[in-house]
Amino acid sequence: MRLVDTHCHLDNEQFNLDREDVIERIKDKLEFCVNIGYDLKSSEETLKLAQKYDFVYGVIGVHPTDITGYDESIENRLEELAKDPKIVAIGEIGLDYHWMTEPKDVQKDGFRKQLALAKRVKKPVVIHTRDAMEDTIEVLNEFPDIEGVIHCYPGSIETAKQLVDRFYLGIGGTLTFKNAKKTVAVVKDIPLDRIVIETDCPYLTPEPFRGKRNEPIYVEYVAQKIAEIKGVTLEEVVKVTTENAKKLYGIV
Ligand SMILES: [Zn+2]
Repeated sequence: MRLVDTHCHLDNEQFNLDREDVIERIKDKLEFCVNIGYDLKSSEETLKLAQKYDFVYGVIGVHPTDITGYDESIENRLEELAKDPKIVAIGEIGLDYHWMTEPKDVQKDGFRKQLALAKRVKKPVVIHTRDAMEDTIEVLNEFPDIEGVIHCYPGSIETAKQLVDRFYLGIGGTLTFKNAKKTVAVVKDIPLDRIVIETDCPYLTPEPFRGKRNEPIYVEYVAQKIAEIKGVTLEEVVKVTTENAKKLYGIV
């Protein structure tokens, strides 16, 4: 069994010059990867990639910093895209109070509408939350039957314990940074069967490549760090997190 990148952005322009090579390396090294949309255009691109490569799955939705202008026509198109069997979740959706592109109530409205969409199409969700954990949990609690992943989990152990019944925690390159104390503590405490590995590439490149462009095969460095923190073998991390990724996205 091999690793999975549960959260990547292969449609990003940083891959324009060598996308085929990056995808070839995924095919060689990983079980599969999941490309994540952040607006309607990238969601359309995500479906194209997922239809082209059998080891690429897709997630479609509108990110909180791109929620400006979210309306019924966008939502109807997302609902159509979501019907494709290679589209395995709705995301990335959530709240971002760091960039504050739109006021809180506008972000919450777009978040609620897409959670309702996920419920209608019976798919899990990929959550983005930044400086907004309390409100994110409050909105998620309005949808008690929704499950999914909190991508690049930024919270405390206490918050993680409230979330892990329903949500996997997505752990990425930031775990390898020197200032990752909080995330290291979360990884130590939360059982491996609630953790999935991601890159969020081209962003958040792990050590030893921090500062360069990230790509899906670098999940290896995150997996190694998790093994080290939990005191288990790399093989164990690969086996459990890949099973988790399959369960999360309903991939058999
Ligand atoms: Zn992302």
